[in-house]
Amino acid sequence: MDFIVCFGAIRHCMKALKFLGGGKSAIEDVPIPQPGPGEALIKIAVSAICGSERRDYLNGCDFISGHEFAGEVAEINNCRNVKPGDRVSINVIKGCGECLYCQTGSPQLCHDSAGCAGGHAEYAVVAERCCLPLPKNMPWDIGVLLGGDTFGVAHRAVSKLPSGTGKIAVVSGAGPIGIGVSLMLKYCGYYVLAVESIDRRRNFILNEIGVNEACDPAKTDIKKRLFDLYGQIGPDVVIECSGNAEAQKNALSWVKAGGTVVFCGENTKGLTIIPSVDIIHKEVTLTGAFYFNKNDFYNLCRLYSLGFDPLKAVGQKVPLDESPQAFESFFGGQAGKILLTRI
Ligand SMILES: [Zn+2]
Ligand SMILES: [Zn+2]
Repeated sequence: MDFIVCFGAIRHCMKALKFLGGGKSAIEDVPIPQPGPGEALIKIAVSAICGSERRDYLNGCDFISGHEFAGEVAEINNCRNVKPGDRVSINVIKGCGECLYCQTGSPQLCHDSAGCAGGHAEYAVVAERCCLPLPKNMPWDIGVLLGGDTFGVAHRAVSKLPSGTGKIAVVSGAGPIGIGVSLMLKYCGYYVLAVESIDRRRNFILNEIGVNEACDPAKTDIKKRLFDLYGQIGPDVVIECSGNAEAQKNALSWVKAGGTVVFCGENTKGLTIIPSVDIIHKEVTLTGAFYFNKNDFYNLCRLYSLGFDPLKAVGQKVPLDESPQAFESFFGGQAGKILLTRI
């Protein structure tokens, strides 16, 4: 397969967003990729900008970025589970496909960290096993949100918590993951207090997502506020989404004895904790949430069919042609989750 027949014309090239380095990007014409054995070519309907693209955006890269996308299968090469015309969302995690974790449906735990990319273009090639078939009639923008990290990680994090009714949750950090987590916690009945230092993010999570409180840690004594809320006990759960070491330390300090802390924000630099004080004597459960698997995706689809609305998390929708400006405003801190549309 070396061409695409589109409205009777043969196309060899497509539009794609290239990261040029120095925080610059541009739409360029590039060859349409070809699927190898076990791969599918996806005609992309929508992709989403993710905070994890920051390094490649700032440094530049020779591949096409974008790992959150949904579209229609255009071509296949020796695939058994997808066919042309299928509507799919893409699970970024590819995995080796053969280890215990991959075989039992948790490729995010596989030793092979290779993932899908190429989503900020008209077409992308993905491994067949990364395709998540969308429920009939699910809109593309819902599909990309439920099949992407914003809600995938949120679902994974929230599924590790006790049920929400009457419980107090703190969400530390109100970027896209914090927004997804907060929306899900509210849906599950928690009282949610978000902690975020950026005004725009705090306003968004309070007014659009509907958390109960959004506090600036520079202006509010968070520990005192939490003690006031719950009789000097502290929150039942804290979901740390910023990756900041001080915030991670705070999460362990704020949570009540017997409570649960989930780390979603990446921190590869290190964190000093005192196990006796922070975990053992409080009997705290500390865990992590890393990406998501098919179970998370299908449960999210069910939640959507029951009324959960992921669109509240979206700050803007812009056409792919305007993606260079969209990236500038996203990484300039001026916009929340952005969807890049194709039509
Ligand atoms: Zn992502
Ligand atoms: Zn594997």
